[in-house]
Amino acid sequence: MADITNWRERELNIEQVAAKYPDVPYLIILKIDIKRRGVIYTERALEAVDPEFHLVQAVNINTDEEMPAPLGFLLRDGSSVCETHIETYPFHREPYVIDHIDGKFYITDNGKILEEIFPWERPDFYGKITSHGTPMEQVAQVRSQRFEVHPNLVCHFWDNPKEGCKYCNLFSVHHNDKGTGYPDSFFEDITETAVEAFKQKGRYANVHMTAGSLLTGKEIFDDELEIYIKSIQAVGKAFREQWIPMQIVSSAFNERQLKRLKNETGITTYDTDIEVLNPEIYRWICPGKARAIGHNEWINRLYKAVEIFGHGRVNTGVVVGVELAEPNGFKSEDEAYADTMRRAEELTKNGVALTINVWTPCKGSILFKHNNPSLDYYVRVAKGFNDLHRKYKLSIIPDDYRRCGNHINLDLDRLIDFDD
Ligand code: SF4
Repeated sequence: MADITNWRERELNIEQVAAKYPDVPYLIILKIDIKRRGVIYTERALEAVDPEFHLVQAVNINTDEEMPAPLGFLLRDGSSVCETHIETYPFHREPYVIDHIDGKFYITDNGKILEEIFPWERPDFYGKITSHGTPMEQVAQVRSQRFEVHPNLVCHFWDNPKEGCKYCNLFSVHHNDKGTGYPDSFFEDITETAVEAFKQKGRYANVHMTAGSLLTGKEIFDDELEIYIKSIQAVGKAFREQWIPMQIVSSAFNERQLKRLKNETGITTYDTDIEVLNPEIYRWICPGKARAIGHNEWINRLYKAVEIFGHGRVNTGVVVGVELAEPNGFKSEDEAYADTMRRAEELTKNGVALTINVWTPCKGSILFKHNNPSLDYYVRVAKGFNDLHRKYKLSIIPDDYRRCGNHINLDLDRLIDFDD
């Protein structure tokens, strides 16, 4: 495991990284470091949070106390930062600290105020219920400008012990498979919630849908596809247009499934996450995916998706940093960078855009006690992916800094002028 004792002395700090990469804006570097190290809120900052105004989730402050903390926030350049109060970090670098001073929220580090931050706001539809009596915030969730539906809360890769992706804590603890027999009321709730949500003028820039992998059906992922199609159609009823400004992040569908998805919905982009670019490390980190589909086939399906949806309309998420996890990852950041960029270029050359998910070893994941790489590494990879997007004229609008806000290389994509 990477030794992070005295990490502040051993790694380039944010100012040094900013000086090393003058074409990467300081606020984007700050966001990258926030994603890498996480945040905690001071008690007075949590006391200043207003659940009637801010978008919050309950977090554990100590063993027997929960408080609402903002789910995410904006920086002053509009960058959306998807980070809430982390409950535990004993094995990792200290997180940034969000404090409340003179009526404003600030991000601080080592006692120094860095930037004012602006917590995301609660949407108007929260607190309302559907005609079936379901609280609408259970049907859909939001980010600052994104409306989200998660039609299932299960991932079959966890069915076999330790076969879920090693960095993931989604569904690893609460693995509750409700099967595929969804009642009509489930989809009616989605339509009603979408109709209500979109009454709020100017709030949403797109719709996002994702869930865990369902391996069941006549062919693998058929049941998952069915649920996505019905859920997308349910959201589509809230739109007058034939197309929907929407993205799904699903398992890697085959050609038949991809054509069905496109023809029966009206979505215009597609995302399926390869997660790890190096095939051997992929087999170690994502054993369930490797056994079900395999690295090569996952990539073949991405290329097939480009044929069906078009160049620049398909992207894949990469959990950057996990390629350096011990004991089977790369031994140095230089080695990891060279391999990552070579494989990233192959994908982008073939029309697949890349989205970075920063690996943060989180509680509930198999790699919880590990540490992620340096800020320098993350900025280098984010800049490298951005350079590839410029070279191959790729940009993924549904995942950009406003709509998603989770992908550090796409914060840089807003600076691309394709007319150059
Ligand atoms: S596919 Fe992997 S990353 Fe996605 S929910 Fe399942 S275990 Fe987690």
